[in-house]
Amino acid sequence: MSNLTFTMIKPDAFEAGHSGAIIQMIQDAGFAIKAAKLTKLSQERAGQFYAVHKARPFYGELCDYMSSGPIIAMILEKENAVADFRTLIGATNPKEAAEGTIRAKFATSIEANAIHGSDSDENAQIEGSFFFSQIEVF
Ligand code: UDP
Ligand code: MG
Repeated sequence: MSNLTFTMIKPDAFEAGHSGAIIQMIQDAGFAIKAAKLTKLSQERAGQFYAVHKARPFYGELCDYMSSGPIIAMILEKENAVADFRTLIGATNPKEAAEGTIRAKFATSIEANAIHGSDSDENAQIEGSFFFSQIEVF
């Protein structure tokens, strides 16, 4: 799955009305949308998605925030998708995100940072499967 990655437009960016601009940036950067879904995570599902961060001090607040409103989940395709998408979104902390990145433009804090991007091919596969079945991916 090395040409695929997984993303979510997070509740803060969706609520602020930035979804259209963010999707435009993603397509302008050469990513094709293979699957897309407007949905909302329950507290429990947010906890499952971020289970890798369970021991971190921000885990509880992260689960509250990620279940606070709708998100748009997408599977994206491009050569070198995982690394190129991480470049497009910028650093986790918007104060450290490079100019022109999605987080530099739309993130409001290290927590409410507008968008998710998978950090490896393996996690892209796991995270994509968390939201989509095979028949939902074009
Ligand atoms: N996060 C947070 N506080 C931190 C670090 C991360 O609230 O100190 C949140 C933030 O929303 C981030 C998510 O937890 O996007 C997952 O953290 P990770 O380190 O995996 O960052 P990412 O891969 O999203 O850049
Ligand atoms: Mg991460």
